[in-house]
Amino acid sequence: MHRVLITEHIHEEGLRDLYEAPNIETIVRLDLSKEELYEAVKDADALITRSGTAVDAKLLDAGKNLKVVARVGVGVDNIDLEAASKRGVIVLNSPTGNTLAATELTMGMIIAVARKIPQANNSLRKGEWRRENFLGTQLYGKTLLIIGLGRIGSSVATRAKALGMEVFCYDPYINAKKVENLGVRRLDDLHGALALADFVTIHVPLTGETKNMIDDEALRSIKKGAYLINCARGGIVDERACAEALKEGRLAGAAFDVHAVEPPKGSPLFDPEIAAKVVLTPHIGANTKEAQQAVAEIVVKNLIKALNG
Ligand code: NAD
Repeated sequence: MHRVLITEHIHEEGLRDLYEAPNIETIVRLDLSKEELYEAVKDADALITRSGTAVDAKLLDAGKNLKVVARVGVGVDNIDLEAASKRGVIVLNSPTGNTLAATELTMGMIIAVARKIPQANNSLRKGEWRRENFLGTQLYGKTLLIIGLGRIGSSVATRAKALGMEVFCYDPYINAKKVENLGVRRLDDLHGALALADFVTIHVPLTGETKNMIDDEALRSIKKGAYLINCARGGIVDERACAEALKEGRLAGAAFDVHAVEPPKGSPLFDPEIAAKVVLTPHIGANTKEAQQAVAEIVVKNLIKALNG
């Protein structure tokens, strides 16, 4: 019998295969202190977490029988991968399960910032009727630069084209055939590409190379009056430089789901002076029922395979 310890809230439907597996005992223990966690992991063959459980060398040592650590979702930054690999522990995640959810939020953010939907909603709720304050921008015929044409970037490309946008991409690592099949134009100079785009949306991972990729210099290359959307990772855009670009009118708007610090403390994007141009959400890109179920199902399927050898 394999013992699987779950330490965070996971979509119940997504766990169904685990509960039905004849040779698996599932133990759910939420909100454990560090000490309780070390104790609970002692007899576990596998651990399922989200981002809230620090799977460090100490925890891996406490879990002497651990063969698999599964992260429901994408980011594995809460897991010490080197320590896991040294101990022969397999680390699983589910990067494909939330592609559609992140894509749809991105489309929502593009439309929300172009038409100032959140600001109009707030204004109307205050009893105002100020249609003149909410003059928007049409998407049809506009250019969209997608930085990172991976799973989410390409799915955004298809939908933006359906809205009649002209789509460019900047992704030095992408296969030329894929770009061609998507009907997207590839541009190899980031700053040149920024100068052409009415909308820029970011879909790269946060790496040494992409950290602060959209810095003050990049923001000065951007076409005047463009909109910037970041539903990828905080830290890719320099928030201070972005707030300056909004204040100076170099950017017409910005929509961010992800933030350099989460929850964001003292972010320059919260400056009331630019509130009319900014849409902010609390990292909800993957937050749909379907995506939460999908990420759990994918991880559970692979975890059962790994445990059964
Ligand atoms: P992916 O790996 O499929 O695609 C990433 C793309 O970025 C690849 O095509 C890669 O070639 C490209 N890339 C890497 N480095 C680059 C660089 N320096 N310049 C240009 N392109 C570069 O990833 P994905 O599943 O599409 O996810 C994209 C991002 O979205 C990730 O940062 C992920 O963490 C984030 N995400 C956010 C949410 C959310 O809740 N907001 C949900 C899911 C994913």
